[in-house]
Amino acid sequence: MAKTFLLEIVTPERQFFTGQVESLILPASDGSYGVEPGHEPVVAAVEPGETRYKVDGQWQSVIVTQGFAEIMSDYAVLLVSTAERPEDIDEARAQRAKQRAEERLRQHGSRTEYIQSKAALARATARLSGVRHRRR
Ligand code: ATP
Repeated sequence: MAKTFLLEIVTPERQFFTGQVESLILPASDGSYGVEPGHEPVVAAVEPGETRYKVDGQWQSVIVTQGFAEIMSDYAVLLVSTAERPEDIDEARAQRAKQRAEERLRQHGSRTEYIQSKAALARATARLSGVRHRRR
């Protein structure tokens, strides 16, 4: 069986990554989801968090926000709203976004505002944990 599969990470802004990888770990709704070459076909929801993939034995990290993954035996595509390398994350901006989201949640607005604020909080939390992970 092949030792690698093609991974594409695509956002509305750009083709973030295309290349052969040995392994992939996705942030899915029910926890981390691992993908190896020869994986059965599946579509999974991607949650804000850390995606990791292995190239030439080295793990690379990307912080993604919500989206979908389509996985096949020799190919995986992640369609996500945003993707950032941990070193490109502006920590102060993520901290401000987190505070704004928490403040909005305290204000008990409409159901739509609640859902939007929860989503903004999840994005900011994913970015901040990406920054912290980078420092380890
Ligand atoms: P903000 O309120 O700070 O814009 P957001 O969660 O609403 O945060 P998104 O809509 O998810 O931002 O992203 C908009 C664009 O800004 C994307 O290109 C994303 O990669 C980038 N981005 C958002 N937050 C950060 C950050 N803290 N550091 C680096 N890039 C960021």
